Amino acid sequence: MANLLGWSSWTQAAKFLEIKRDINMGHLTDDPKDPRLTHGPDSEPVEQAEVYLVLSEKERNKGFVRPVRRTYIHVGVSGIQTNPTEVGCGALTTMGQELAETFARDPKFYGSTYCVGCRMHRPVGEFTWGHSSELVGS
Ligand SMILES: [Zn+2]
Repeated sequence: MANLLGWSSWTQAAKFLEIKRDINMGHLTDDPKDPRLTHGPDSEPVEQAEVYLVLSEKERNKGFVRPVRRTYIHVGVSGIQTNPTEVGCGALTTMGQELAETFARDPKFYGSTYCVGCRMHRPVGEFTWGHSSELVGS
């Protein structure tokens, strides 16, 4: 039993370190001129971008104009969560805190966002915030 708990704690610690490492590896930037940034929606599946643009911590600390929401659902244009349109796959995507705070500070900051179901960046108007009917980007 002691060993089991040890492994469990070790695994949790490893996961935590992995998450921390991802953030430290610079998967986010507040430099809009970062050459690794990608732009616009995709029409076929791609991996997530190497780097995503976020507002700087200083800018985010000026205050949010929307709640900080970390999940959105791909409903398609004019779709709803119980009835996505054909371009909406219905998948729920969870994003990191800094991205969520950037949306909350400036709801129109991003024109497109990643869908884990389609594995594409799609226009924000195809998504609603998790468990609401409120459009992302509004
Ligand atoms: Zn999708």
